[in-house]
Amino acid sequence: MNIILLGPPGAGKVTQAKILVDERGMIQLSTGDMLREAKTSGTEMGHRVAEVMNRGQLVTDEIVIGLIEEKMAGATGGGFIFDGFPRTLAQADALGAMLARHGEKLDAVIEMRVDDAALVARITGRFTCATCGAVYHDQTKPTAKAGVCDVCGGTHFLRRADDNADALKQRLMEYYKKTSPLIGYYYAKGSLEVVDGLADIGAVSAAVRKVLDKA
Ligand code: ADP
Ligand code: ADP
Ligand code: ZN
Repeated sequence: MNIILLGPPGAGKVTQAKILVDERGMIQLSTGDMLREAKTSGTEMGHRVAEVMNRGQLVTDEIVIGLIEEKMAGATGGGFIFDGFPRTLAQADALGAMLARHGEKLDAVIEMRVDDAALVARITGRFTCATCGAVYHDQTKPTAKAGVCDVCGGTHFLRRADDNADALKQRLMEYYKKTSPLIGYYYAKGSLEVVDGLADIGAVSAAVRKVLDKA
């Protein structure tokens, strides 16, 4: 089973993807994570990517499609969760073609619907474990023990350079201009499912589970 988690920055895509990885052994393909890895690689491409990401703009289709292609080629079984990809119509078309080449199809596109006012708080409170990547929030999902990761016991945490109110404005603009047309695109294809992303993490996860069980 292959699914896309679609929604603006802060909608809860990574949080739900990680739950599905744990519960179902699915494979999470996050272009945001791949690009952050590229950023630290010290290559020319990494520098270019860092600049674009820090401004809150989208990286070129060519780069992200290449990254996804590479990861899909190396992965087997489990089914894919595409998180943060596709973000443009060109990426959506490329994904359809890549899946077809692997003899796979898309089973559901889950739109995580949230309202914009909630996103500022989501984004400015987000932090992640530097060791295992677990995602936390100052108010809605703090670690059980202050300063210690629930998952791996790590004590190092990161806040993203683009998780500030200014970059978020730019990221939302990019989302509405370039990514939100995908909602209509997948609706027309008959694969769109909507869940309420404003519910608490457990309730969103239950809604996602329901979609997957009937897909
Ligand atoms: P969020 O979790 O806030 O939705 P991501 O981690 O998915 O953000 O992405 C962070 C940044 O990486 C984006 O603002 C953009 O610059 C870049 N990026 C990630 N995925 C893509 C993509 N599919 N196409 C273009 N740029 C991307
Ligand atoms: P995205 O990948 O869509 O950008 P994340 O999964 O990183 O979003 O979530 C953004 C922030 O909001 C994180 O700090 C996360 O802990 C928190 N969060 C995620 N889902 C919920 C939810 N349903 N209710 C409250 N906070 C949430
Ligand atoms: Zn951890």
